[in-house]
Amino acid sequence: MNETIKNDRAAWLQGPPAECSAVPPERKNPWRLVLLGAPGVGKGTQAELLTERLGACHLSTGDVFRAAGKRRDCDQSPAMKAAMEYMRRGDLVPDSTVWEMVRERSHCILHCGGFILDGFPRTLGQAESLKELMEKDKIALSAVVNYELPVDEIVQRLSGRRTCEKCKSVFNVKERPPKVEAVCDHCGGRLLQREDDRPESVAVRLEAYERSTAPLIKFYKNLGLLMPIVAQGSPDEILVRTMDKMDQLENL
Ligand code: AMP
Repeated sequence: MNETIKNDRAAWLQGPPAECSAVPPERKNPWRLVLLGAPGVGKGTQAELLTERLGACHLSTGDVFRAAGKRRDCDQSPAMKAAMEYMRRGDLVPDSTVWEMVRERSHCILHCGGFILDGFPRTLGQAESLKELMEKDKIALSAVVNYELPVDEIVQRLSGRRTCEKCKSVFNVKERPPKVEAVCDHCGGRLLQREDDRPESVAVRLEAYERSTAPLIKFYKNLGLLMPIVAQGSPDEILVRTMDKMDQLENL
């Protein structure tokens, strides 16, 4: 990874007053992407890979909630505590809480050298709020990448996903197993299953996706921003497919 674009995402993960260490890439029109797709299609992995390639910031709302959940109980606001409950069940956190959290971090969207939004927006209300925020600052999305995968593959990916508790590397017990069972190849950390990847939460998450997030596909298609990508194959293959489409877009 290019050292100059390394970003600890403190400003995004902790919110104000944490400062941003991101160095904006030298690009006149930085990439401003939204990644769409059902839970488990690999948005997070693609966001990491695209971040390395494009030098944009990886802004995941799920990561913010998980980081908040690790804080001491007394350091969590009542809204955050309630958000943790929604998250545990696999349900969407209410728009008002999500927007409050994103609005506090709007600097990361408006004034950094491009971004990759992963897991936000997830409802039409959130998409409208984002559009309004960006329009006020006269900036626009470059594209909305929609990762497509059949539902049975999604369930297999989610139930097999394991994340390193230390370095957050992602493995899959079937598709991308670690060399040693339950141990991270990169740092030796323990590999854990996310609480919301358990079967009962997976069903709720997929239902929430169909009900609330799938309508965004039409919303962004109507705005001429939708970029469908088949999410089958290895992460590198999916990345190449995505970059090819982005190149085509740039050369239009
Ligand atoms: P993710 O890591 O993106 O799958 O998010 C994990 C969980 O965090 C989701 O299942 C929701 O409970 C919550 N969450 C993350 N982002 C949002 C969002 N934009 N709107 C509502 N809930 C969200």
